[in-house]
Amino acid sequence: MNIGFIGLGIMGSPMAANLLKAGFAVTGYDVSAERVRRLGELGGKGASGVVDAVAGADVVVTMLPDSPQVEEVAPLVVEYGKPNLLYVDMSTIKPETSREVARKAAAVGVRAVDAPVSGGERGAVDGTLSIMVGGAPEDVEAARPVLERLGTTIVHVGPAGAGQTVKAANQLVVGGIYGLVSEAIVLLEASGVDPAAGLDVLAGGLAGSRILDLKRHTMVKREFAPGFRIDLHHKDMGIALAAARAAGVSLPLTGQVAQLVAAARAQGHGSLDHSALLKVIERLNAA
Ligand code: NAD
Repeated sequence: MNIGFIGLGIMGSPMAANLLKAGFAVTGYDVSAERVRRLGELGGKGASGVVDAVAGADVVVTMLPDSPQVEEVAPLVVEYGKPNLLYVDMSTIKPETSREVARKAAAVGVRAVDAPVSGGERGAVDGTLSIMVGGAPEDVEAARPVLERLGTTIVHVGPAGAGQTVKAANQLVVGGIYGLVSEAIVLLEASGVDPAAGLDVLAGGLAGSRILDLKRHTMVKREFAPGFRIDLHHKDMGIALAAARAAGVSLPLTGQVAQLVAAARAQGHGSLDHSALLKVIERLNAA
């Protein structure tokens, strides 16, 4: 099976690597020539542009930053894809953009599903992502052999766009947990308690979470190399609030977390890992 893979960043690059390891032929494209070159080193084929990556592909995967990039790339995928192409967009974008892409794709016989992921760079490297998939049941089943090489939890959550709505729910939970872990660290340190020891206990009890498992050590040491950038989480909090507005519900804690993430960005931390929310909570408490 030939796979066209567009967007070879922090997530896309290891995901494409896993597809290569699984024996798929992968032709990849990214606006960064360096990232295309790295795919070549892994045994993939570099493409000169989106159209080149799509030509001859049975499946196209996109892993792009945000809705505008998908809105730019998707029309080319749909126009130049072969008949009955399966198009799997794994970027985190607005649900309405995914619905629009699926509608336009269906009009020309391209099968589109939205399949955003959770699990971070670690999950992408290990092939253990959680994947929430929106689309027609038969298209989701057709995508499964590819998705199973990228993740271990793959759930069909509803029609086109539903994957993105679930991802928005995921991101508000993740943001909230980072905010509270940050507050726990600030409290422990201000009280003269070793935060590393304190968080070790939390991780083993009811407050335990994957975030505590994976990130407590680097947070305590103030190591904030991304990972998942604050800029991208800011985008996701905007998607979550817009989804809440569209659904006519009030999410007060999500609103608060969105403001803290916005503060992290305003303070110049946009390219740090989202665990750098700790810097905002610290600054609130600085003398
Ligand atoms: P990234 O910025 O590292 O990668 C995006 C890549 O897309 C970059 O290499 C960029 O050069 C490329 N790109 C941008 N516009 C392009 C275009 N028009 N054509 C071709 N390539 C283009 O971002 P990432 O961290 O890999 O995240 C990708 C998506 O996955 C985002 O929607 C993000 O929200 C989501 N996500 C990220 C993580 C994470 O931990 N990093 C986890 C889950 C979901």
